[in-house]
Amino acid sequence: MTITRSDWEQRFQSLNIESRAFIDGQYCAAASTATFECISPVDGRFLANVASTDEADANAAVAVARRTFESGVWANLAPAERKRTLIRFADLILENREELALLETLDMGKPISDSLNVDIPATANAIRWTAEAIDKLYDEVAATPHDQLGLVTREPAGVVAAIVPWNFPLIMASWKFAPALAMGNSFILKPSEKSPLTAIRIAQLALDAGIPKGVFNVLPGFGHTVGKALALHMDVDVLAFTGSTAIAKQLMIYAGQSNMKRVWAEAGGKSANVVFADAPDLRSAAQGAAAAIAFNQGEVCTAGSRLLVERSIRDQFIPLLVEALQGWKPGHALDPATTVGAVVDQRQLDNVLRYIDIGKEQGAQLIAGGNRTLEDTGGLYVEPAIFDGVSNAMTIAQEEIFGPVLSVITFDTFDEALAIANDSIYGLAAGVWTRNLSKAHTFARGLRAGSIWVNQYDGGDMTAPFGGYKQSGNGRDKSLHAFDKYTELKATWIKL
Ligand code: NAD
Repeated sequence: MTITRSDWEQRFQSLNIESRAFIDGQYCAAASTATFECISPVDGRFLANVASTDEADANAAVAVARRTFESGVWANLAPAERKRTLIRFADLILENREELALLETLDMGKPISDSLNVDIPATANAIRWTAEAIDKLYDEVAATPHDQLGLVTREPAGVVAAIVPWNFPLIMASWKFAPALAMGNSFILKPSEKSPLTAIRIAQLALDAGIPKGVFNVLPGFGHTVGKALALHMDVDVLAFTGSTAIAKQLMIYAGQSNMKRVWAEAGGKSANVVFADAPDLRSAAQGAAAAIAFNQGEVCTAGSRLLVERSIRDQFIPLLVEALQGWKPGHALDPATTVGAVVDQRQLDNVLRYIDIGKEQGAQLIAGGNRTLEDTGGLYVEPAIFDGVSNAMTIAQEEIFGPVLSVITFDTFDEALAIANDSIYGLAAGVWTRNLSKAHTFARGLRAGSIWVNQYDGGDMTAPFGGYKQSGNGRDKSLHAFDKYTELKATWIKL
């Protein structure tokens, strides 16, 4: 049965929002007692005063994480036991799905149906999938001479801190904490200051599931305070980050200035979605292209923000695209029928509108959307926008907008399309639409990007690695490859 907007409003009335940090198995105020206001972009309502942690709290959480790691209370459990606990954690997240979905939507603005049917189940699934793998992994015996035994073993890295963004707050966090915890590390999560509430809430669920106190800690607060303190900390072994390329670079500097902690960065994107004239079905390509820019208000690292269309089908394709985008209209984020919710905050909304102005100034033609809307809700909504006549050199084709603004670029040849697609500092993802199998493979091979979608956009699950080439980052989330980030490889040579 669909939960209506008024049902959600009623549930909000009885929500008891926890907004403190979680260290050593307990909720606590920031050491300084500072807080920051959490206001919903959905309609401007006040949600909570959230603990604003800083260096003192980071030091406390790292000390606790180090202590629990060294005690072996989690790291030394049999993998099958960690698996069972993590699966309980996933189950508890699902049991609390509606509450978590409501928090996620109110906190960062995404449509409630997406929070309920995408974010929360995907978070539980990431934990479950990862947990299920860990008692089926084996280490290696090296190809040694006869009188030697060489063991190659994977060991937990120790204390892992993760700094995550606001666009998929729980999913992005789970892509870090699931493999890190699965491998036996102790963990500190620093959610974005724009979306801290679900991270804070699941800390209790982790404890309830049986993850020992001190193994999973949450520090809400700002990047330049607690985030920086974690990144500069001498006793954090791994820093797992998802966020912008600019901050990723800064974190690498902090690591160099401190203890050379491993920094894994999933960063920005400006992905090309390329429609050839021989696409199997132009209408479904248009629908895919619309979803690729409008889903999650365009606040998606893999958003197909550059749409490359072959000139011979351009005139036929553009009306299909405009029509497809009609299905993506902003609406109140708590309405279950809404497909485009609120932009996360005023700064992000201003940023999107500024890029729309830049696009117009640089001579691109705005052919759909691009206006602020639903102001009467008190929320931050913008209509998904399409720019036609874009050249890849324009600012709107080079810079990550992180909002629902699509740049349509026309091309003539395969080589030109490939050159344009790769002409970006980013290399996170790309789409290609063609019915020619050889062309699809050749194009995919030529793309310098971590995820390629053929005749679809944004597909995939936990089974394949996810991450970027170039300035979109390093390392991979998801799949068995994610374990590499949170483990050290040890070689042990035994003389026989
Ligand atoms: P952001 O880089 O501004 O912030 C990300 C996190 O870093 C936040 O928690 C923030 O508090 C923290 N931070 C900021 N300054 C810091 C500092 N000096 N030291 C330590 N931490 C600091 O990014 P955002 O606006 O939250 O998210 C949007 C970005 O995330 C986009 O660029 C998007 O492409 C990227 N992203 C990438 C992926 C991916 O998997 N590649 C997924 C989602 C989002």
